[in-house]
Amino acid sequence: MTLIRPLDRIVQSHATSDGAGVKLRRSLGARASDRLDPLLMLDAFHSDDPDDYLAGFPPHPHRGFETVTWMLEGRMRHEDHLGNLGDLEPGGAQWMTAGRGVIHSEMPQQTDGRMRGFQLWINLPAAEKMRPADWRDIAASEIPEQATPGGGRVRVLAGRPVIDGHTLAGPINGRAGERSTDPYYLDVRLAPGERLDLPLPAGHNVYLYAHEGRARIGEAGSRLELHQGAILGDGEVVRLEAEDEGAAVLVIAARPIGEPVAQYGPFVMNTRAELEQALADYRDGRLTAPGEPA
Ligand code: FE
Repeated sequence: MTLIRPLDRIVQSHATSDGAGVKLRRSLGARASDRLDPLLMLDAFHSDDPDDYLAGFPPHPHRGFETVTWMLEGRMRHEDHLGNLGDLEPGGAQWMTAGRGVIHSEMPQQTDGRMRGFQLWINLPAAEKMRPADWRDIAASEIPEQATPGGGRVRVLAGRPVIDGHTLAGPINGRAGERSTDPYYLDVRLAPGERLDLPLPAGHNVYLYAHEGRARIGEAGSRLELHQGAILGDGEVVRLEAEDEGAAVLVIAARPIGEPVAQYGPFVMNTRAELEQALADYRDGRLTAPGEPA
């Protein structure tokens, strides 16, 4: 018998702002108690008003985890301390592993129109927190998409999900053993009334976020409203069912790390002493790897 993951609890999103005043909705990570190992934070930004996003995220540091930006609409330009430049296009993504340290900016490349997308923070285990920084820009065309039997579709940024009998390999973690947290990151669009059963590795933590419409979860049909997140209990399959207007839901899963988390803003380490070291390193120009610009 296949065990369908039940709803554990709903995570409300809160309107907030970050960077130089970008308006967004934060669900996971709005409070320390709302982390889901190894997922630290999920922000959704969605606005037609340039005043909500134009200020962007001027240069800032990160250490100890990964940031994943997935654009649905609009363009964002990324620039880091190594001189890497990337343009995020509609549908494209950036997977950035801060490791020991990255200093970067993320700035909108439009002065009007709609900006829509997500930023997810995924923790790294202690053994990888001080690894060299790395990043990858992923074009929309590199993200595989599979139609579902009920008229919807699934896009796979990370992981190796089986959808309607087809195994899709995401551009990130498309091979087993590629990443210690074994992340899955899917955008699932369901037609009105459609139900989808999605197998994901048992033991992974699973988080859902409804960004269009609303859905029902699990055998009990627990409600997931627009802009709500959901933490699921363990099991083998994620069951989603759209309400009458259809739904779009992010499905994010990863293997828990099981280590203490110490966070101060953009630094996420295991202990307070390591946080103090990160702050001192940033202040003294030693956040990034030796030989790299700081
Ligand atoms: Fe950043």
